Amino acid sequence: MDAKTVTDAHAAHRPLLSMQEQQEKLRDGEIWGFHCDACGYEQFSPMLRCPKCRKSDLSTRQFSTTGKVVSYTIQSVAAEQFMNETPFAFAIIDLDDGPRISGWVPWVARPDDLPLGATVEFTPSYKPGMMFEKKG
Ligand SMILES: [Zn+2]
Repeated sequence: MDAKTVTDAHAAHRPLLSMQEQQEKLRDGEIWGFHCDACGYEQFSPMLRCPKCRKSDLSTRQFSTTGKVVSYTIQSVAAEQFMNETPFAFAIIDLDDGPRISGWVPWVARPDDLPLGATVEFTPSYKPGMMFEKKG
């Protein structure tokens, strides 16, 4: 898994990793995103330029699939595709090695079900968004 670095101006106008490629990686259980070689800033969403230092020295990087829950809201009413996982938490997660991202955790009805700081792990799913499951 080599990280690709933008070396010519032409390539800089395209994302290093398309959203489709990123989705395919997710289906394989891998979280890939973007890393700024200039300042170290990382994010999951495609970027052509670093929002922090404005440089375009970007590379792709594989992040860890585990992280800690920073905050969340409980969704007890959900769209049809989430009916079997309701209630669930829509959570902000700090990846152990990677940026802060959002995802959802099935079967969370009360704050006791998912304490803040709990470790969760990304689990590939065909549902929209990124599903994480409680670990341990
Ligand atoms: Zn930067």
